[in-house]
Amino acid sequence: MFEKILIANRGEIALRIQRACKELGIKTVAVHSTADEDAMHVRLADESVCIGPAPAAQSYLDIPSLVAACEITGAEAVHPGYGFLSENARFADILDEHKVAFIGPTAEHIRLMGDKIAAKETAQRLGIPVVPGSDGAVGSNEEAAEVAEKIGFPLLVKASSGGGGRGMKLAETAEDLPTALSTARSEAKSAFGDDAVYLEKYLKKPRHIEVQVLGDGLGHAVHLGERDCSLQRRHQKVFEEAPSPALNSEERARIGAIVAKAVADLKYRGVGTVEFLYENGEFYFIEMNTRLQVEHPVTEMITGLDLVIEQIRTASGAPLALSQDDIQFSGHAIECRINAENPKTFTPSPGTISYFHTPGGLGVRVDSGVYQGYTIPPYYDSLIGKLIVHGKNRNECLMRLRRALSEFVIDGIETTIPLFSELISEPDIVNGIYDIHWLEKYLKRP
Ligand code: ADP
Repeated sequence: MFEKILIANRGEIALRIQRACKELGIKTVAVHSTADEDAMHVRLADESVCIGPAPAAQSYLDIPSLVAACEITGAEAVHPGYGFLSENARFADILDEHKVAFIGPTAEHIRLMGDKIAAKETAQRLGIPVVPGSDGAVGSNEEAAEVAEKIGFPLLVKASSGGGGRGMKLAETAEDLPTALSTARSEAKSAFGDDAVYLEKYLKKPRHIEVQVLGDGLGHAVHLGERDCSLQRRHQKVFEEAPSPALNSEERARIGAIVAKAVADLKYRGVGTVEFLYENGEFYFIEMNTRLQVEHPVTEMITGLDLVIEQIRTASGAPLALSQDDIQFSGHAIECRINAENPKTFTPSPGTISYFHTPGGLGVRVDSGVYQGYTIPPYYDSLIGKLIVHGKNRNECLMRLRRALSEFVIDGIETTIPLFSELISEPDIVNGIYDIHWLEKYLKRP
């Protein structure tokens, strides 16, 4: 087991990882930019190293500074959290060259899943159902038009290197295709330096359902059930729950078994998420994330497992101590992402938190990196915390969530808390009947 871990991240996730390290008796090293000197993840770590100025490109994304911080502090492993360098295969390779462990899968698996076309081909080979579409990248517009006729419209043009919804364009009809292809290509070229695009059937009213997996890299893997992340704004998740209100236990066991077997066959190490769109009883693979997800706590609440501890154990080479039968699902959990944003316009609202009171009580968890008097810097993501609530069943979970939201006080800045207070009284949300377009439509209502 490692004695000292460097956490290459900030905010709530850096604190979340520190908590796991402390429980395992592992020393923690925080890194921070000059804008984060007063951050909680710096204050609570055993050691901290300033790695550069405020812009992430010169600090949290600066690989030489991170490697130097490992050398100075003698950290034996790096946990990348999510975002930043968490899915950067080159970072994993460089750490390996410096004999520092990367808490995550191998660089080879990160690379494989980072390329959406290769990921989709791999998923299909391993028996995972995929969205019908082109076989790999499409070449000329003429070739694309031929393939598109076979798939049928509407369809999506997607960037092979895409992420965060960028490089993705909808073509409703054949007339839209040339424009969709050229805008997706140029967006992908400028964002990812790669203009390879592929075509996919557009699913009209799917839910976003993702399966959490855990493997040891030695050929053993389990699934930890699914999360429903269908409430999205601009392809970004806003609210997540586990289990999905749309699945029955037979469907859950079936897709879970397919995914766990695929991940075991791949000899995948650590935690990972296989994302699907789900429509009319069918699952369609869209991508695999080779890291810890923002929404991992809902899975922790219903399984009682600490996913970060499992990541650290598997990265240290330990075989999986769990079999599928050891995983028991209990109750229901919901997460609300609390962003420092206007709850109607979603414009960021950095500034100083003048008053901060978090909800508590049975089944309530708040993962956050902020405190009263803290000034949110304008340079980073607007997520300032997550409210996660657990109940015996979905109904109890919603009752508890309503209560917890009413207790949460954050003054001095705007947050998305009022949006959640509204949403959980909406009949569709109460009944669990929503697809990936539900929230966008709700936000556009007069
Ligand atoms: P990214 O990596 O850019 O986030 P994903 O492939 O994960 O892209 O897709 C992000 C979101 O876009 C999905 O959660 C879903 O809302 C929508 N989406 C992706 N593929 C399709 C599809 N074939 N049909 C309908 N919606 C899709």
